[in-house]
Amino acid sequence: MTSATVHDEAKARLAHMGQSYTANRRMIVDALIDAGPLTLPELLDRRSELAQSSAYRSLALLTEARVVRRIVHDSDHARFELAEELTGHHHHHLVCNGCGAVVDVELPNELEELLDQSLSAVALRAGFVLGHHDLDVHGICGNCQA
Ligand SMILES: [Zn+2]
Ligand SMILES: [Zn+2]
Repeated sequence: MTSATVHDEAKARLAHMGQSYTANRRMIVDALIDAGPLTLPELLDRRSELAQSSAYRSLALLTEARVVRRIVHDSDHARFELAEELTGHHHHHLVCNGCGAVVDVELPNELEELLDQSLSAVALRAGFVLGHHDLDVHGICGNCQA
């Protein structure tokens, strides 16, 4: 998906909530398009025009509008990325339990298919129809092992 499409979709999702796509909100989406998963301090480093309080509020709103997804829920290491429906880029995360680093990883297609088959069977047993999966892997990164 192009960044223009991502911005259009972000605008539409905010409009749905009666909110406008302000310059600050757009700037945050832009930073996430450029950089991938960011913490709030990293975001502020990249876009020095943003004030911390307004960036925090904008991120909360963008998350509520499902433009942005919060990965790593632990508040010290909270990280944000664009929702997969906006980017069209299906991927998983390796999350470090030590420092909160997040690495995007893609799984081979065969593994994705196998996952969906297995998860679909699990879901079906509980009366669910599988939509999509959202799976993060936790461990210790190379830096934290040293
Ligand atoms: Zn680490
Ligand atoms: Zn997957």
